[in-house]
Amino acid sequence: MSLELTDVTLTYPDGDARLTALDEVSLTVPAGRLTAVIGPSGSGKSSLLAVAATLIRPDRGRVVIGGTDTAGLGRAALTTLRRTTIGTVFQQPNLLPSLTAAEQLQVTAHLDGRASRTARARTRARARELLSAVGLEDQADRRPHQLSGGQRQRVNIARALMNEPAVLLVDEPTSALDHERGAAVLALLRTLTRQRATATVLVTHDPAHLDVADTVAEVRDGRLRPGSVARP
Ligand code: ADP
Ligand code: MG
Repeated sequence: MSLELTDVTLTYPDGDARLTALDEVSLTVPAGRLTAVIGPSGSGKSSLLAVAATLIRPDRGRVVIGGTDTAGLGRAALTTLRRTTIGTVFQQPNLLPSLTAAEQLQVTAHLDGRASRTARARTRARARELLSAVGLEDQADRRPHQLSGGQRQRVNIARALMNEPAVLLVDEPTSALDHERGAAVLALLRTLTRQRATATVLVTHDPAHLDVADTVAEVRDGRLRPGSVARP
């Protein structure tokens, strides 16, 4: 599934006027590709992800996910779309302190209440598989305070993959990490994008991160311009 934004304009209320956070932004990310979005603080990067995640409806323009124009979906359908199709990884992992790494993943799968024993067993197995995909097979039973910052961010990424999202939206995932751990998280995102064929958008303000990207786009004052192709 691909993610397509076409001529997206988003404004926020700003006193008596409106502040234009996104100005006719168009961006297409095919399945299995990672697009990096760079730009200074306040340029509109997080707003772009919020619109792509269908958390904010733009004033104008289209957000099409896997061929479905999200403008035509009501609130319930959007909630379902987000749960089944979109994985988000934000700056702070926001893990629940009392849960183990495996449990952080499992709770997201059963947010809607009761599940059968087989469903729970399947969820447990999937949590283990994803923790091992992010290199945490030995940490599954640890709680957040027993994990390093890099490990917590890996749990966050594994959790975003729990529902097999087609679209993966990642906002400055390395801001709390040192360079080496940050680089490992980015390499992981690249690998997961390929293996799981996600359409991935990675927001970063750090140009050192661009070598994991297939495409780079730059936002300035809400306008997106295509950057260099980082790697074939
Ligand atoms: P970035 O992630 O690149 O730092 P943002 O998307 O967070 O940029 O913000 C873009 C612009 O929109 C900034 O001027 C910011 O102050 C403004 N902005 C962001 N969120 C809101 C909001 N909820 N209400 C009003 N203005 C906002
Ligand atoms: Mg931001």
